[in-house]
Amino acid sequence: MPNPASPDKNTRSASTPPPLPEPLAVPVADSHTHLDMQEPSVGEALSAAASVGVTTVIQVGCDLERSRWAAGMAAEWDSVWAAVALHPNEAPRLAAEGGAARLDEALAGIEKLAALPQVLAVGETGLDYFRTGEEGVAEQQRSFREHIALAKRLDKALVIHDRDAHADVLRILGEEGAPERTVFHCYSGDAEMAELCASKGWFMSFAGNVTFKNAQQLRDALAVAPPELVLVETDAPFLTPAPYRGRPNAPYLVPVTLRAMAETKGMTEDALAGHVAANTARAFGY
Ligand SMILES: [Zn+2]
Ligand SMILES: [Zn+2]
Repeated sequence: MPNPASPDKNTRSASTPPPLPEPLAVPVADSHTHLDMQEPSVGEALSAAASVGVTTVIQVGCDLERSRWAAGMAAEWDSVWAAVALHPNEAPRLAAEGGAARLDEALAGIEKLAALPQVLAVGETGLDYFRTGEEGVAEQQRSFREHIALAKRLDKALVIHDRDAHADVLRILGEEGAPERTVFHCYSGDAEMAELCASKGWFMSFAGNVTFKNAQQLRDALAVAPPELVLVETDAPFLTPAPYRGRPNAPYLVPVTLRAMAETKGMTEDALAGHVAANTARAFGY
């Protein structure tokens, strides 16, 4: 890939990585990324990130094979921790392919990985009513419940993916009882839901979409979220922050999002980064 520090203006296009931002003075973690879906090698991605003060990344696996890969990367690299799960869109896919038994088999594989010391979280799990239709909802919900139970059994953090499913995510969390450390990744609720999450002590991880022009609702939520519960993430390669929307995302772009978040919260960049660094360590237990 081209060096992110020196994008060639003449060939700048949708596929050109954005330039390296100014480094953060206070190092933070990217609480949610998918290095396996990004173009540069893991080593390149981590060194670009570290060069701007993003010194830790949580690598998230979305199916059994990618979760195995995430655990492997976390074993290999000091700055990487892993989260493992069957993504809410993966669970109904497995069930459609091989029935409940196929889903159970994959869940057993996730449980083995989740027990590893370098795996700090079970996730991303949850509900996604945007991509999964009516026919997949029952297995998706069952999978979510199984992942919640697993996080509690192993005392790992729970990383929730909630897309167009706030009410059911909150209902099921309530019914099952949330694990002690629960993170809403790519937080997408409104301010009222942020207040509810805050009252429960749940972490809210904000992604690049908090910088989007049409995302005032997210900024309103961030504004009321206590600094002690706020995390930052890229969810890379997705959700590249403004002004680089549409170009490839990567952990080294965390400072762009964090700076926009500090502005929304009326805090200095260093003060917010200090909170985020401590919060991420507390949420994931490293
Ligand atoms: Zn997600
Ligand atoms: Zn993700």
